[in-house]
Amino acid sequence: MTQTVSGFENIHNQQSPINEIKTLLQSDTLPNAILFTGNESSKINQTALFFSKAANCTKDSANPCGSCISCKKIEQGVHPDILFINTTDKKNITISQIREIGSRLSIKANEARVRTVILPHAEKMNIPAQNAMLKMLEEPPDRTVFLLFAPKVTDMLPTIQSRCRKIGCIPPDRASIEAYLTGTHEVAPDMARIISRTCGENLEKALMLLDLQKDATHEPEGGWIEHRRTTLHSLFFLLGAVDQIPRYMSRCLLLAEHLTRKPELLGEMFMILRTFFRDLSVFRHAPQDIINTDFFDSFEDICAKRPYNDHLDWIKGLFEAQRKIEANASARLTLERFFLQLPPKGM
Ligand SMILES: [Zn+2]
Repeated sequence: MTQTVSGFENIHNQQSPINEIKTLLQSDTLPNAILFTGNESSKINQTALFFSKAANCTKDSANPCGSCISCKKIEQGVHPDILFINTTDKKNITISQIREIGSRLSIKANEARVRTVILPHAEKMNIPAQNAMLKMLEEPPDRTVFLLFAPKVTDMLPTIQSRCRKIGCIPPDRASIEAYLTGTHEVAPDMARIISRTCGENLEKALMLLDLQKDATHEPEGGWIEHRRTTLHSLFFLLGAVDQIPRYMSRCLLLAEHLTRKPELLGEMFMILRTFFRDLSVFRHAPQDIINTDFFDSFEDICAKRPYNDHLDWIKGLFEAQRKIEANASARLTLERFFLQLPPKGM
């Protein structure tokens, strides 16, 4: 199990789930399953660890000591009764994975007072998987608590929802994220503002982009800041040729090829593209509200040259392109098509 970001507890909203967990543990009646909701998935490890330790600490049941054998094993990810289901790289959680958990649970717990099954991104369970999970929740194994994490309660079937105690994690707002980035990580204020707005109040994403997440797995070469800068430059370069179709077309093909070269970075790429097209549509009426403030002059140039009102269609097209790629369409061809459709009709 990976460790959490140091200093993370300092973000005030984090207190809420921890306090609810403490109250639960002190009440003596543990639910069979808890559904933690909220977008802040960087809390998953910390919340799950806290619960598992507190439920099993040999010294204190509300504030895990961190030094007893049980706390230590959980911290190191070697406790035999704490099942962490790795879902990070999975597109879907399937019924066979849930059944596998079931067969592991059919064996009695080794040493834990309370065995925990930690399922991050429970929203990735498809319907058959959710139904298999429901079966387990209907006939819960002895001394076992399922900890499910999902962005929203409605990501789970109503039948699952009704079997879970629900604890909402309120994500930190943009201002808290900015303050955290500038304070704890000494990020420049301008960049903290750009990043917090690019990530839509997702602290984990912000930390990952800045390479501050300890378990960052796929950083773009030269870091995200450089990746963002070159992507935005390429987009301005592309739109600079929008009135010269042959040149525009060749730039489209090159850019689509370039942006899709690393499939693992597609998510990040779409985030940058979204802020770009959003800024284009916002610039005319509220230039002070753009996200990419360091490219203010370029937006001014391009908007002066292109007084068209089609930017909202572009944003729709971008969402559509992302949806198709997520449904397994070729990223390069989809992006080519999206770029080729940008010039106004009749040019
Ligand atoms: Zn302990």
